[in-house]
Amino acid sequence: MSYLIDTHCHLHDRQFFETEQAEEMVKSAFKNGVKKIVCIGTDPDDSLVARDFAVSHENVFWTYGIHPEETNKDRKPLKLASLEEIKKAFSTSRPVAIGEVGLDYHDEVHDRDAQIKLFNEMLQLAKDNDLPLSFHVRNAFDDFFAVVKNFPEVRGVVHSFTDSKKTLKKILEKTDFYVGVNGLATYSTLPTPPLEKILLETDAPFLTPIPFRGIINEPAYIYNIAEWLTKKLEIDFETIKKVTTDNAEQLFHLSDSGNSKA
Ligand SMILES: [Zn+2]
Repeated sequence: MSYLIDTHCHLHDRQFFETEQAEEMVKSAFKNGVKKIVCIGTDPDDSLVARDFAVSHENVFWTYGIHPEETNKDRKPLKLASLEEIKKAFSTSRPVAIGEVGLDYHDEVHDRDAQIKLFNEMLQLAKDNDLPLSFHVRNAFDDFFAVVKNFPEVRGVVHSFTDSKKTLKKILEKTDFYVGVNGLATYSTLPTPPLEKILLETDAPFLTPIPFRGIINEPAYIYNIAEWLTKKLEIDFETIKKVTTDNAEQLFHLSDSGNSKA
């Protein structure tokens, strides 16, 4: 039986979703054929909230990550968890990836050196735990490729890709690299990756796809992104569903590790 996967959302985040609302959204996602959901951590505390949400819901998975903007100069100094604490966090439930992590030079207050240092640490964490990564990269692909080069075993997804055709080509040259396609693609002119490299994601609550622009995004709308893709690539819905789901399973091993106790 085929199904869809939301490989990137923030459903666990109480800043955006009330508990009740999140519960309803898990149900409506499942009803819409979106059978697996990955909740993405953006800082040490948020990652643990994602973990606890995953542990208490079947077919919801979590990642451990620190968003590059956490190092911005206008933020409180970032308090990193110790390796001991991280180990303990992972022993409750193993995350399916490290992310979202990466580089983002879009904001004026960004701190390039601090971001690169953090990104290296996150890549090392992924390596030590044999996990894939969910990358957030914005206006920073030169440094991204330079840093990633030092981790030849790296595998992951460039989430919410918003760069040029040329950059896309460079990503696609890497084996074990996927590209996250979300609602943004439905209302912009971004280059579209080939199907065998696509992971579907909502990035809910952000980037609501057409035809729901203007309301809060949720995992159920993966269906609409998949539908948009069938028109864009002129490939039937079943194939879109099967290939993107296979890609996600291949990268994150959702059937094996999931929310099972490690
Ligand atoms: Zn995100």
